Amino acid sequence: MKKKQFKAESKKILDLMINSIYTNKEIFLRELISNASDALDKRYYQSLTDGNSKLKQKDLEIRLIPDATKRTLTIVDNGIGMSQEELEENLGTIAKSGSELFKEKMSDQKNMAIIGQFGVGFYSAFMVSDKVEVTSLAEGADKAYRWTSTGADGYTVEETDKDTVGTEITLYLKTNTDDTNYDMFTETYTLEHLVKKYSDYVRYPIKMEVEETKKKEDSDEVDTIKTDKTLNSMIPIWKKPKNKVKEEEYNDFYTDKFYDYEKPLRVIRSEVEGRCSYQSLLFIPSHAPFNYYSKEYEKGLQLYSKGVLIMDKCKELLPDYFSFVKGIVDSEDISLNISRETLQENYQIETMAKSIETKNKKELEAMLKNDREAYEKFYKEFGMQLKFGLYNSYGMKKDVLADLLLFPSSKDFKLITLKEYVDRMAKDQENIYYACGQTCEKIDLLPQVEMVKDKGYEILYLTEYMDEFTLKTMMDYDGKKFMNVADEKLDLSDEKEKKEIEKANEEAKDLFAAMKETLKGSIADITFTHRLKQHPVCLTSKGEVSVEMQKVLQQMPNGSQVKAETVLEINEKHPIAKKLKDLYKKKDKKELEDYTKILYAQACLIEGLPVENPTEISNLICQELSK
Ligand code: ADP
Repeated sequence: MKKKQFKAESKKILDLMINSIYTNKEIFLRELISNASDALDKRYYQSLTDGNSKLKQKDLEIRLIPDATKRTLTIVDNGIGMSQEELEENLGTIAKSGSELFKEKMSDQKNMAIIGQFGVGFYSAFMVSDKVEVTSLAEGADKAYRWTSTGADGYTVEETDKDTVGTEITLYLKTNTDDTNYDMFTETYTLEHLVKKYSDYVRYPIKMEVEETKKKEDSDEVDTIKTDKTLNSMIPIWKKPKNKVKEEEYNDFYTDKFYDYEKPLRVIRSEVEGRCSYQSLLFIPSHAPFNYYSKEYEKGLQLYSKGVLIMDKCKELLPDYFSFVKGIVDSEDISLNISRETLQENYQIETMAKSIETKNKKELEAMLKNDREAYEKFYKEFGMQLKFGLYNSYGMKKDVLADLLLFPSSKDFKLITLKEYVDRMAKDQENIYYACGQTCEKIDLLPQVEMVKDKGYEILYLTEYMDEFTLKTMMDYDGKKFMNVADEKLDLSDEKEKKEIEKANEEAKDLFAAMKETLKGSIADITFTHRLKQHPVCLTSKGEVSVEMQKVLQQMPNGSQVKAETVLEINEKHPIAKKLKDLYKKKDKKELEDYTKILYAQACLIEGLPVENPTEISNLICQELSK
């Protein structure tokens, strides 16, 4: 019989499984049971939609058959089965959407610890076996087939006999090593324990023949009899009475089902009666999945109808800004035949989505209020998504999201909410001030920050690239406008000071015209300012696009043309102002040009903008230093 080769990427993953040093090899059982359970779901679902009432749910089962002598473990299901093509297609290729990423992450054994994050699926069988046989008769097919593989050297598929629809997977266990006793996977005790641990909630019975001892009547002797035992409770965890479920059970359920290695930050369980009744069990993960901020990530909740899984990732149940939420929703009111196409107009789905959104929001608010530490951990992982939510909805989701935002502030660089900011605003303060930069420490040294802080006003320090866009789309909070301290319009001076600076600017009109000539289009304006205390210069911006936004936009494809209209502001009280005036008066054109270039370069450096002509500036500075 001709051996067929695995597809290249499948082979790599298979190799990793075969040579796995992953200590948690026992998860193979969970994976195979979960596949069997899916196959049962598919068969049941098909029979419902076909109107084939002959099949009863109670006849569907999974069976474990350990054989200690042969050192094999067989997992049997009477699910949908696989045809010859399906055996080749499904088991010869890893057909998962995440497989590319999986390969990247799994390229070395070091990363095996996060293996649980991926549904490694069927191939995990090779963590414990040298050889795997899959015998299957597909629903509606007249021939059964057997797929056999001893690992990386390929697989064979041949015709075989099997009378009943379903799949049988036999694992030929590896030889015991110092680290792993593979024999244990033939012990009924171990198998029972593993089923309880990982697969208790599976809806179908997982049966195994066990030996039970019974005392003989009228004598002290015991009889050993073999009986069928159902190892799992079969009740989905979200249907068990709340007081009967321990926190660890939720955590285990979550880590298993959603492939996380860390327990969730919050568990939200609810039961809603009404126009659309449903039960839900939702989780807020404690960290973002590795692909969360990429297009690879798929949001969605598992959707069940009366305990039957009908969709693995129903994205209509979650808005993008809550896309991190994981979990399941089970509703009696959802039709089993619901299709992807009709989901969007589905009234029940819409109702549930609204109520789930409210629940998530409330839970986050409660966490923010009662457990700040946990919330800050959450925010570090997912805060960006909330900001995207505001930005993408053009601020329309302000009522849901604004109070969930946190920003560090000038007070002590600690994170605060907008409400906390507003509550402690100074009496005469009208706006919510913010400043942008790479880190709080750097922002704190910005020239424009000094004066605002001196006035006794707190400033939000925005260190992430989305931040300013978010505030701009919100426009205001609690009636207070957001204002960048580097906005040209910011003016904290009193009437007298305003007059003085106006006068100084008027008098320096020609000086500025000459300087602008030197900077040829790099800036929109030059002015004297009183907004600076000790610093000689700063850059501010006119209009909607700030310097910080320019930086972000220019990094985006097609964004390179977007420019902030910058204004070079010069501290009128600084000796440099007098120097400039003198140079202009003396008609020292060359010197004025050099000074202008240096000052502009300084302002750019402070703002974190590149200096266009570093060599020239460096030479100019040296030339001045040498005088
Ligand atoms: P996943 O289950 O995540 O799709 P697997 O590698 O575990 O990935 O399985 C690949 C595919 O093989 C499944 O999607 C399913 O179509 C098929 N399969 C696996 N086990 C069974 C089974 N017991 N019965 C029917 N089909 C199965």
